[in-house]
Amino acid sequence: MSKFKRIGVLTSGGDAPGMNAAVRAITRKALSEGVEVMGVIGGYSGLVNDNMIPLETGSVSNIITQGGTMLYSDRCLEFKTEEGMAKAIATCKRHGIDAIVAVGGDGTFRGATDLTLHGIPAIGVTGTIDNDITATDYTVGFDTAMNTILYTIDRLRDTCESHARCNVVEVMGRDCGQLSLMTGIASGAVAICMPEVEFDEAKALEDIKTAQAHGKRGMIVVVSEGVTTTDENGKKIPYSEVLAKKINEIGIETKFVRLAHIVRGGSPTLRDRLTATKMGVKAVELLLEGKSNLVVIENDGRIESMDILFALTVDRMYKGKLKDGDLDKFGPEDIKAMEAICEKRRLENEELYEMAGKICK
Ligand code: ADP
Repeated sequence: MSKFKRIGVLTSGGDAPGMNAAVRAITRKALSEGVEVMGVIGGYSGLVNDNMIPLETGSVSNIITQGGTMLYSDRCLEFKTEEGMAKAIATCKRHGIDAIVAVGGDGTFRGATDLTLHGIPAIGVTGTIDNDITATDYTVGFDTAMNTILYTIDRLRDTCESHARCNVVEVMGRDCGQLSLMTGIASGAVAICMPEVEFDEAKALEDIKTAQAHGKRGMIVVVSEGVTTTDENGKKIPYSEVLAKKINEIGIETKFVRLAHIVRGGSPTLRDRLTATKMGVKAVELLLEGKSNLVVIENDGRIESMDILFALTVDRMYKGKLKDGDLDKFGPEDIKAMEAICEKRRLENEELYEMAGKICK
């Protein structure tokens, strides 16, 4: 028998298609195990402000097809304070909530760790379109976002072809360029620019000129929003727009498009529905096994779990954001395992980027 009578589920941070599928799976799996479920409204702010609804089987009917999140999302700064956390814990106690499953990104997982440390066991499930959590091969929402970008770029390419012009497309991804890398390859972009790989601007401009000279009419360049430069006043600005201007300056008519939040919406793909379902079910299983402070991950196709602190530290390691003392809590074996995860991600990016350079002409 589970020691849990009732759990809460919330979605937090930037929304992602497939969050609803995760909420549905968490709810139905818990109910099937005799555990009641409360849907926390608006991420951690729902815990701080005591805003929640009971979820029954029918409450999550017909949401697997829908983008966004039926529980809504929020960025709740108060939750990060001691007072906010105290209110959140009091809300859980008031409603008899024994554990929380939190669907979101790295900020959401930090919140889940804090909850666990304050006595409410929590598990994280990935929900973020950027695939920017290094510890997992895959985050729920990534496939839908990639396909939405591709759908849009294909349309841009049609009109680029008609008018013999170039279109620079900026896509989301602050520290992680997986969205631009994958969609750049799949859309046949002439150049891809992402934060993790140094961009050879001179070569890209040369390649674009050569391609045009060889008769290529429509050209697409995909750039991650996270690639920035500075203007004449030293202010940080997106590189995507600067690059579009530079391509214009070499005599190729170039338009600029920022896809921004369009990519966050829409009905989730099969991949996202399936992964969200598997991850949601796994999260409940872990809680029922008495485990917490974990994030559900995908590793070489398997749904597994990882300690949240370990996962967040791997992420900082990969993104070059480790702070003093971050590694102090880990032994040499752990650090070796972290380095191996970073290396796997780095290699995958480098190999794909190199391949793209050879065939995307
Ligand atoms: P994401 O989960 O997509 O990365 P955010 O970084 O905005 O999105 O985090 C979502 C929410 O998680 C925040 O609004 C906050 O309520 C909570 N959170 C973020 N960082 C922390 C932290 N260090 N400690 C506790 N809670 C946090």
